[in-house]
Amino acid sequence: MKTLLPTSTAGSLPKPAWLAEPETLWSPWKLHGEELTQGKHDALRLSLQDQQQAGIDIVSDGEQTRQHFVTTFIEHLNGVDFKKRKTVKIRDRYDASVPTVVGPVTRQKSVFVEDAKFLRQQTKQPIKWALPGPMTMIDTLYDDHYKSREKLAWEFAKILNQEAKELEAAGVDIIQFDEPAFNVFFDEVNDWGIATLERAIEGLNCETAVHICYGYGIKANTDWKKTLGSEWRQYEKAFPKLQKSNIDIISLECHNSHVPMDLLELIRGKKVMVGAIDVATDTIETPEEVANTLRKALQFVDADKLYPSTNCGMAPLSHQVARGKLNALSAGADIVRQELASASANSSANSSANSN
Ligand SMILES: [Zn+2]
Repeated sequence: MKTLLPTSTAGSLPKPAWLAEPETLWSPWKLHGEELTQGKHDALRLSLQDQQQAGIDIVSDGEQTRQHFVTTFIEHLNGVDFKKRKTVKIRDRYDASVPTVVGPVTRQKSVFVEDAKFLRQQTKQPIKWALPGPMTMIDTLYDDHYKSREKLAWEFAKILNQEAKELEAAGVDIIQFDEPAFNVFFDEVNDWGIATLERAIEGLNCETAVHICYGYGIKANTDWKKTLGSEWRQYEKAFPKLQKSNIDIISLECHNSHVPMDLLELIRGKKVMVGAIDVATDTIETPEEVANTLRKALQFVDADKLYPSTNCGMAPLSHQVARGKLNALSAGADIVRQELASASANSSANSSANSN
């Protein structure tokens, strides 16, 4: 990556109102059949254009072709019965009606690879593609077959690895795994969560990222956040093992969160996507607020490893708010880039003055 502080989003962006009900998660499609396929691709191009107009450096599909970041991937697999539903608690937080694992899970054909090829054709910029992580996948299902969270996670890791290799071949530069579950199940994260994630990236040459957040700005998540107290130290549990893992980039929620920034010291050496945009509020950050979050992070992340980003996906926001936030992210990163450039100009001026 040539640009210092390359900006990106955590993943999803709002969908056009003609494609799906806006500002809603799991929003049903408004088109069908061939029209839906065409509509998804049109939405992907618009979403890419929004990112480009805002000056985002690492672009994505805005997750325009999927209804939900976990379910859409699972829908394409064998072994899961979407008609057989059970109510389970997702991430120990809220009840949801989920499909049932009824037999061995397998992937008959690629899920997102055609979409990724389409995105690749549209731009020469670096592209990032998000997949769900194994632990977050198992947490969104009722398992009536393996009867072991760990066993099912290893199976999903194998499947994710097949998909990731095809995404890499399609020209994806960064493959990101979304693991909000890493903020909840600390023992499992350390016992097998990070290990299954490493299985999912086995043999990849492109860069890899893990996104760990406190969730979309929906009520169940904001209510949960209220119970977490004044200091959110959840990251502390997973960071030591993540620091030693083969994952290249760690994507985190930082702005407006109660995560103590010094926890980032625990992953020193890794690239960090620093969430400098709050996705749980319609208030658009000022560039200076974004810059402030990045400056705080720079105390613990080397400048060449800092990737300004959003706290989480922006699918539930309005288009106007999301665009405003993309612009703020870009402008905030610019402020800090200029500061870094003038600081390094000053220090080289000083060192040449000293050597005279
Ligand atoms: Zn997230």
